[in-house]
Amino acid sequence: MERTKEESTQAAQAPQRPRRHSRPVILRHTVDGVEHELQVGGGAPITVQSMTTGKTHKVEECLAEIRQLAEAGADIVRVAVPRPEDADALADVVKGSPVPIVADIHFNHALKALEAGVAKVRINPGNIGKPEWERAVLRAAKDKGVPIRIGVNGGSLEKDILDKYGYPRPEALVESAMRHVEVCQREGFEDIVISVKHSDVYFMIQSYRLLAEQTDYPLHLGVTESGSLKTGPIKSSIGIGSLLADGIGDTIRVSLAADSVNEVRVGHQILKSLRLGRPGVNVIACPTCGRLAGDLFSVVDEVEEAVAKKGFDKDLNVALMGCAVNGPGEAAGADLGVSLGRGRAHIFKRGGTVDQDQIADAVIEMIENWDEEAENA
Ligand code: SF4
Repeated sequence: MERTKEESTQAAQAPQRPRRHSRPVILRHTVDGVEHELQVGGGAPITVQSMTTGKTHKVEECLAEIRQLAEAGADIVRVAVPRPEDADALADVVKGSPVPIVADIHFNHALKALEAGVAKVRINPGNIGKPEWERAVLRAAKDKGVPIRIGVNGGSLEKDILDKYGYPRPEALVESAMRHVEVCQREGFEDIVISVKHSDVYFMIQSYRLLAEQTDYPLHLGVTESGSLKTGPIKSSIGIGSLLADGIGDTIRVSLAADSVNEVRVGHQILKSLRLGRPGVNVIACPTCGRLAGDLFSVVDEVEEAVAKKGFDKDLNVALMGCAVNGPGEAAGADLGVSLGRGRAHIFKRGGTVDQDQIADAVIEMIENWDEEAENA
């Protein structure tokens, strides 16, 4: 189907979304002897993070999980360092990881984590301990050029702040974050990323909005304890998505009580849905109704699965529509797609039809040949 000039312009401009200005923070890591830098904030593409669920001291298992996350598209992986043996294992984890490693630490293992060569350290102001400990961590991080995330969590606020507000309100989370930003600034430490996570999605959104007004450090977005694969992606999409749609957020983590690979998949899907981040294929499918003229659900499943597996880096909207009546109109903003009709499907853009059992393959082939098709258009 032909597009109007206006529709083509809209589609071409779709990836341009306004972003909040933030300072750049650099994560450094070495793979096979080659040093890499990953920028968070400062207009860099929004990165997707996850956290391992296994024990960090079981190095081979931990690295296997990190590799799986990296293959799924994780840009950064965080590991917990609650025990001395985890801190001891960190150097080997960092050495074997294809992506930058962030250590989630308490004070007692912070210095060891920094020695191990982690790319970033996350501290929770609610449990970092004495002010002099925090300052010691900051000095060591500054010496090593390692950024710190001030990771405030609604469930572990400092007691005095919780007493003041009576509940982990957005103002309370922001006060905690800004208190530690000031501690960093007094030490001349500026490599800061901040998060103010809350399990209440509404409060989470308000917390980040408030924080974004007060500082230009890059923000790590997340809804904490968001739940299982059934509920977590919804809460995270609302929380993270609302903020990203406002241009707020530089790196994201979807927290799920499920296999950690799902966190990465959902994270990329959130970015893709807003046409933010790296290029990728965004599958649009109609919900179907009484006009449905074929088996759309299996086509959608097959196409989504193939798109996820092949990891295309083409920025395309692919529309899968259930009928030829409203389908073409509903798919006007798409780059390519199909509309079903009597055991066959009409193909947008390329023209022609394809049998029902070959629809998914035809769509994948169109995506694979997209550059060539665009040239011939
Ligand atoms: S594209 Fe056709 S089948 Fe799908 S919702 Fe619209 S009218 Fe119904």
